[in-house]
Amino acid sequence: MNLPIQKLTILGSTGSIGVSTLDVLARHPQQFQVFALTAKQRVKELALQCQQFHPRYAVLGSQAAAEQLRTLVASDIEVLWGEEGLALVAAHEEVDTVMAAIVGAAGLLPTLAAVQAGKKVLLANKEALVMAGHLFMDEVVRAKATLLPIDSEHNAIFQCLPADYSGREKAGVRRLLLSASGGPFRTTPLSELAAMTPDQACAHPNWAMGRKISVDSATMMNKGLELIEASWLFAVDASDIDIVIHPQSIIHSLVEYKDGSVLAQLGNPDMRTPIAHALAWPERIESGVSSLDLIRIASLNFEAPDEQRFPALGLARAAATSRGDAPAALNAANEVAVEAFLNETIGFTRIAEVVDRVMQAWPLAEPRELAAVQEADKRARAMAQQVISQQVPTL
Ligand code: NAD
Ligand code: MG
Repeated sequence: MNLPIQKLTILGSTGSIGVSTLDVLARHPQQFQVFALTAKQRVKELALQCQQFHPRYAVLGSQAAAEQLRTLVASDIEVLWGEEGLALVAAHEEVDTVMAAIVGAAGLLPTLAAVQAGKKVLLANKEALVMAGHLFMDEVVRAKATLLPIDSEHNAIFQCLPADYSGREKAGVRRLLLSASGGPFRTTPLSELAAMTPDQACAHPNWAMGRKISVDSATMMNKGLELIEASWLFAVDASDIDIVIHPQSIIHSLVEYKDGSVLAQLGNPDMRTPIAHALAWPERIESGVSSLDLIRIASLNFEAPDEQRFPALGLARAAATSRGDAPAALNAANEVAVEAFLNETIGFTRIAEVVDRVMQAWPLAEPRELAAVQEADKRARAMAQQVISQQVPTL
């Protein structure tokens, strides 16, 4: 294969997705060149990545961290910090591809900067799309950016749709089926859920991921965010997207067509597959992922999600249906609640309760510009903090 070299910025290179991306890139030095690496505060990890990949830029979250990194890396690597640094490396004219792998709302501005600069954007940061779906997708069209999903479910759906997909009806799609593992608490007795610790919540049976998305998988808010993400990515109403629990995480999602055909994408649960797919698309490259051994796996199981066990699913579906700034509020309240859970300020089942309280009081608006989305994010965070600090009684 003789493709031109792709220059890449990796936003969030020290995280789980960032590290998997670098693992794939290291297998193809002739095809990819790392232009910029970014992290919030892990200076030592970023220094090691800089030594191995020698980017032109490295970006950190604070000036102090940036100064520390400068003492650890070659002098021709430019070290920047903060939102401006992130926006610069996301939109730089020399960059072809941006891996958006910052976790949470912090990823919105740099991811949007990459979209607005018309880059090929590999989207792992689902929160950005959940928050600002409408504006985000409008910018993709306006700037002629290429948006490729990294989330394994969305990448699977993308692979099962026709190459010229331009909407559900036209493609003859009846519905999308998002698969979900059910997380670590799928069979935990309901009476024990309130006492689950952050370490138990982060011990995912199939995937090794960052702590925020691991907690989201345990509450299944992750699937709720993915429902909203899928609805924007594929222009499909939330009512035409079903969630199916599949504990082995081998089928990553499915598309049902109106003739009854159902196409699925299968593979071992390893994020290097969707990452390699999006990096090389429309070609294919090696990812380092081993062959799927169906004989060893032997059986694939499916069940309906239990909305009593996972109230976050219903909250996300309601936000997906009302649209406006409800998804931004849902996401912000969830981020605050998950952080409070990880800090052991609130118990596990309080996460969905905090989000529920905020959503019940949320005055729905239609954000027409980014500032309105950011304002909704800020307001929902303040409301969630208030619910947590007032210890509002359990619903
Ligand atoms: P992680 O916590 O392992 O890594 C997050 C990265 O973002 C780190 O490099 C960190 O330094 C950076 N970061 C965090 N806060 C920041 C801030 N305020 N400013 C700048 N940088 C910041 O997270 P992850 O598991 O790699 O997930 C990243 C994104 O990908 C999330 O949106 C997640 O939902 C999505 N995703 C992850 C997986 C997975 O398998 N890990 C799968 C699907 C989607
Ligand atoms: Mg996913």
